Amino acid sequence: MTAITPDSPQHQNKHQKAKALKPGSRRPAKELCSECGLCDTYYIHYVKEACAFINQQIPELEAQTHGRSRNLDDQDDWYFGVRQDMMAARKQQPIDGAQWTGIVSSIAIEMLNRGMVEGVVCVQNTKDDRFQPQPVIARTPEEILAARVNKPTLSPNLSVLEQVQQSGMKRLLVIGVGCQIQALRAVEKELGLEKLYVLGTPCVDNVTRAGLQKFLDTTSRSPETVVHYEFMQDFRVHFKHEDGSIEKVPFFGLKTNQLKDVFAPSCMSCFDYVNSLADLVVGYMGAPFGWQWIVVRNDCGQEMLDLVMDQLDTQPVMSQGDRKNAVQQSIPAYDKGVTLPMWAAKLMGVVIEKIGPKGLEYARFSIDSHFTRNYLYTKRNHPEKLEAHVPEYAKRIVGQYELPKE
Ligand code: FAD
Ligand code: SF4
Repeated sequence: MTAITPDSPQHQNKHQKAKALKPGSRRPAKELCSECGLCDTYYIHYVKEACAFINQQIPELEAQTHGRSRNLDDQDDWYFGVRQDMMAARKQQPIDGAQWTGIVSSIAIEMLNRGMVEGVVCVQNTKDDRFQPQPVIARTPEEILAARVNKPTLSPNLSVLEQVQQSGMKRLLVIGVGCQIQALRAVEKELGLEKLYVLGTPCVDNVTRAGLQKFLDTTSRSPETVVHYEFMQDFRVHFKHEDGSIEKVPFFGLKTNQLKDVFAPSCMSCFDYVNSLADLVVGYMGAPFGWQWIVVRNDCGQEMLDLVMDQLDTQPVMSQGDRKNAVQQSIPAYDKGVTLPMWAAKLMGVVIEKIGPKGLEYARFSIDSHFTRNYLYTKRNHPEKLEAHVPEYAKRIVGQYELPKE
């Protein structure tokens, strides 16, 4: 990529042209666009190299960020990416209203309070709608806390990048999901920063705001009171309602025939579930139920995690069970959008919870199920992209299974 500095005439020209466009009016990735926000800024002129859905370059960016790309002889590298440590953790005093125990918000607050960064890119919600994302550059702990909890919708986090450069900020933390972070890493050198920290979360099956409404309407008993939800390790979706009650719906009972088209095409063709390019990843799926899952990818990620270690209980990661049969059997069901009657779905959920995969094996189950589904989706809908868009580690994961004949 040719370097264009923010002050160079070439940049200024492209900046003027990009500015003339309305936000959202240009999306070179077309229907595969995940609304990461890059194209709402003058960094749109890097889009052909930077967009995760136009130019998949995870191995190159892993080498740039972590000093190496995945070792393809190591199956754990296929699944969890480059890393120097993994653990299960939870805050001794959880943050009220956070998605899990609030490790992400706590790290961001520590970094700001200790002066390691001047701002934090994160996503609050709009005044009128708790699930409508509103990306911001937070400069106070209160603004970081206001961004806690998932906005389970596509969020244009990178749309605030221009403000970073205009503000003269030199040290920045960005919180985001894989597609946002891939584009960010690709333009990192153009941002004029002295130091960029990246705190990532895993991400899968994201939706537009309209898609989210359809999911809530078809799945929850009271869609209007849902404050947050998660696809849990007990094979149920847990909806938390305004009154604090928890509603549990088994995965196998989801109305998959109605929900088939609800997930964004970008997420149906994504192979970066575990946020390969963040310095530190905080999720839940590789940890026992109730705990968060931490993946430290490099020294920078360790530095970030060290800031909150005295606020955490931790335990080593564990792995139990064998996912392979469950994944193989779920491929045709996923593919055809089969829905089980609720009694059968509940029964299946209970059985699988008792004998099913746990810890890292559950994470592998979820990665396998999504990568096989996404591989089929990409093959059918974007066959010309398949070879270059699917990273080698994902091809190896998918290659373990028998896929339906076309
Ligand atoms: P909190 O302290 O509550 O902070 C949440 C942070 O997430 C905030 O800083 C906010 O800026 C950021 N955020 C919220 N919504 C978005 C968004 N749409 N895009 C980018 N950033 C956002 N983990 C798994 O292990 N498996 C999964 O399948 C999985 N899917 C996810 C899907 C989505 C759309 C998101 C946003 C996260 C997902 N996660 C997943 C991560 C997990 O749900 C928690 O976000 C993570 O464990 C952090 O919890 P916390 O309590 O520490 O976060
Ligand atoms: Fe632009 Fe991001 Fe959409 Fe790609 S995913 S077209 S970079 S907004």
